[in-house]
Amino acid sequence: MADKPNTELLKKLPQVEEVLQNNVLADIIDIPREIVVDAVRTQIDALRQRILEGGEPSIQTEDIAKAAAVRASALQAPSLRRVINAAGVVIHTNLGRSVLAQEAVDAVNQAITGYSTLEYNVEAMARGSRHDHCEKLICALTGAEAAIAVNNNAAAVMMVLSEFAAGHEAIVSRGEQVEIGGSFRIPDIMQQSHAHMVEVGATNKTHLSDYERAITDETAMLLKVHPSNYRMTGFTESVDIRELRKLADARQAEGHRDILVYEDQGSGAFLRLDVFGNYAEPAVSESLSAGADLVSFSGDKLLGGPQAGLIVGRAELIDRLKSNPLARVLRLDKMTLAALEATLRLYLNPQVAMERIPTVRMLIEPADDVRQRVEKLHDALVKRIANDVADLSIVPETSRAGGGALPMCDIETYALEIRFLKGSAQACDEFLVRQCPVPIIARVSQEMVLCDGRTILNDDEIEIIADGIAGYFATLDD
Ligand SMILES: *Cc1c(COP(=O)(O)O)cnc(C)c1O
Repeated sequence: MADKPNTELLKKLPQVEEVLQNNVLADIIDIPREIVVDAVRTQIDALRQRILEGGEPSIQTEDIAKAAAVRASALQAPSLRRVINAAGVVIHTNLGRSVLAQEAVDAVNQAITGYSTLEYNVEAMARGSRHDHCEKLICALTGAEAAIAVNNNAAAVMMVLSEFAAGHEAIVSRGEQVEIGGSFRIPDIMQQSHAHMVEVGATNKTHLSDYERAITDETAMLLKVHPSNYRMTGFTESVDIRELRKLADARQAEGHRDILVYEDQGSGAFLRLDVFGNYAEPAVSESLSAGADLVSFSGDKLLGGPQAGLIVGRAELIDRLKSNPLARVLRLDKMTLAALEATLRLYLNPQVAMERIPTVRMLIEPADDVRQRVEKLHDALVKRIANDVADLSIVPETSRAGGGALPMCDIETYALEIRFLKGSAQACDEFLVRQCPVPIIARVSQEMVLCDGRTILNDDEIEIIADGIAGYFATLDD
């Protein structure tokens, strides 16, 4: 219905100044005045628009003042806040990827609540380098000669390409031209870093001979990119690091300029998680021992640390990266360094890493252990909702690793399944996300809400989820 605008109403819309006089706003003293004024103006504009569209909203000064107060105080509410991941995607990029180990949290706390050795060498009693804190650990864990950590893996790829392939050619397979979530695309990064990308092979198959034929005097790099969450199956073929190494060595022996073999490993992993069998991601050390000159990977995917990009490999190459101006541009801050160092230290004992690093622990937790948490949630909820509003059951389900890792792995899990006799899955999901003080992210499937126990962290979260779901059914009573 596009009614004619009510011009009387338009004329009667109060002035900004008049609304500001209202007690509701006069009492607000903890928000800067300009913000309140802006909120009033925005509210009046919105009402004007509604009237022009044929609506007849209330234009009472007090109502406008109240709505403006809500707008103005929205700024005081935290935006980046805790949520509960009941979706069963362990490395959930939208939800902040990895949950840090307590050891990492403590280290961050230490580093930021006082001064630190960020760039101070206690031994030498002189200026130190921030690169020193993690390098030895990364080397010990991967067998690399040297390492550097930067802002994220996208930054790492950018840095390696611009240091070693700018103005030259980098050869990459067409089967590895993938887009990774958040608009990371190899061709775009290549362009940005001024490397000339040479694509070889077909989408499904690339042979060693494709690389061989593509090498020219200008070739500086053979780049291998982990296909992340994309997999081709069936009639496919790709060339592994070992073969690329042999090819590069053979050409160099013939007098060709240095050809780097670089792998962007994406998720990266220090441990081979045996539970994933043949699907397990290659470990960083495997890529290095197969002959990669450089390997880069993320800090907050399978590794389970803070956002970072780690580059490992030959010392002379890492030295060049350290003196590239991008090392300064992309350097890590002390919070990240503290978290990264503490996380890496946990890997010194793989058993400890598996117990203490939440990402790793969640990925390998046996389904029967997950089930116990789901049972707790079930029991907490059964007591609180009438049996004529919903059917609750504990069902076998599938969790995902996320973060582009282990895409083919169906990780067995258990979930609480809610079938709605009153209300609906969509409405419940909306309530859980929008109305709960701590938003709860569950899965909705076939008119049911599913809470996957794998990514529910503790009893406190179970309690919050039970409150949320019971809270939804309580809204149906009125
Ligand atoms: C995730 C990923 C990246 C980007 O890493 P960030 O740490 O998110 O910047 C790059 N390459 C591959 C293959 C990836 O999987």
